[in-house]
Amino acid sequence: MTNSQVRVRFAPSPTGYLHVGGLRTALYNFLFAKKNNGKFILRIEDTDRNRYVEGAVENLIKALKWAGLQYDEGPDIGGPFGPYMQSQRLDIYKKYADELISRGKAYYCFCTPERLEALREEQQKMKLPQAKYDKHCLHLSNSQIEENLAKGIPKVVRLNVEPDQKIEFDDIIREHVEFDSNNVDDQVLIKSDGYPTYHLANVVDDHLMQITHVIRGEEWLSSTPKHVLLYDAFGWERPKFAHLPLLLNPDRSKLSKRQGDVAVEDYRDKGYLREALINFVALLGWNAGDDKEFYYLNELIEKFSLERVNKAGAVFDLQKLNWLNAEHLRRKPDTELLLLLKEEISKSELKDKNIPDGKLLLIIAAMKERVTFVKDFIFNCMYFYKSPSEYEQKAVEKNWREDTPQHLLKLKSEFEKLVNPTKEDYEHALSKVADELNIGKGKLIHPLRLAVSGQSTGPGMFDLLFILGKDEVLNRIESAIKNIKV
Ligand code: GLU
Repeated sequence: MTNSQVRVRFAPSPTGYLHVGGLRTALYNFLFAKKNNGKFILRIEDTDRNRYVEGAVENLIKALKWAGLQYDEGPDIGGPFGPYMQSQRLDIYKKYADELISRGKAYYCFCTPERLEALREEQQKMKLPQAKYDKHCLHLSNSQIEENLAKGIPKVVRLNVEPDQKIEFDDIIREHVEFDSNNVDDQVLIKSDGYPTYHLANVVDDHLMQITHVIRGEEWLSSTPKHVLLYDAFGWERPKFAHLPLLLNPDRSKLSKRQGDVAVEDYRDKGYLREALINFVALLGWNAGDDKEFYYLNELIEKFSLERVNKAGAVFDLQKLNWLNAEHLRRKPDTELLLLLKEEISKSELKDKNIPDGKLLLIIAAMKERVTFVKDFIFNCMYFYKSPSEYEQKAVEKNWREDTPQHLLKLKSEFEKLVNPTKEDYEHALSKVADELNIGKGKLIHPLRLAVSGQSTGPGMFDLLFILGKDEVLNRIESAIKNIKV
């Protein structure tokens, strides 16, 4: 290879959205490139016209950008090895397929779908482990081929896989891998519509784009012998391979849509932070060799190595993702959370409320340790924004006694005396009332929390009072006394 610089690529097929498994592949490629001062390339493998989905490329690019995985070369930004969309490179694949044909490494096949189907049925009846093409067209004479081509008979180009060969390669993660060429089909390289298959386009592009390491999901491991044969047939140096472990559901089945969200957009829309999703996805099959689980992207770049990627499937544990989301959120500066919260508010029923930043910052400080998502600053504590319209029934039963209204009225009149109260002022006033009534503070705090928030749990009581402000607190005590019935 002429280039000693690390060059890796993420090569998705645009099928609609970016799967979390795809995000993991993109991330590992990105980390490996950054760690090694290499280049990270985005290549769109869109040669399967049946799977083409409108808008899918834009979605992919948007999701990668959202995740912060900026590539150095790609369809929208160009680069020295473009175009980076395979559908714009058809002439290139044709040229290389012709080269293989002229060297006897590939051949035209004119078999009809009916013949192929009959062959498959026959092989199934014989209980062969997999259906394989019988090389029928490999034996056509040159004149037959010329005649068929001249007549325009539909054709494909197939790889000529020699039987009885051992196909070997080394994989950074799977180590030494061997396949028997008798189990490898004479793969179609160019389809009857003139488009290349994944195998041909992938190998030609990886070579022409000077890719040094192919890092991709394990589901592509069984394609690799075909690719290795192609590299050898062309006389090209093979890249290094690294096949990443499968992603599994907690029941160890293959990660599927059925058991939860698989699109990066779904996680984004649910309010996961990009930092948390990246951190989580990085740990799906990799660790630095210690127990550390919290990482920022720059630390991942520093620590990442392909050698530390596991062979075993990685279980997708949503609880861990939630935990990481809460951790990342907690470590963000309040000013950044303020912007995120305002964005969330603008999408919520509170959008016209004009809540001052100062109040929002107090809510953030009071709730930071208690939330998982930014939207929890709204929906887990609506009482900061609106007076309660109902009161938690269980807490009413537990904490609202016959003498509670009387106690709260006394507390209310003590609060009324306060001028611009701080949280300490509320606290002193409450202690004073508890002493005068000769009751424990809890006997006041529980019903007071219920009265002002409608709930039995929340942030520190006096923080809550301070954030609500005196007038609001007094009003809420009054309404609770009116509305809570035991
Ligand atoms: N186009 C393949 C995909 O959709 C790429 C596999 C590879 O990286 O070689 O994942």
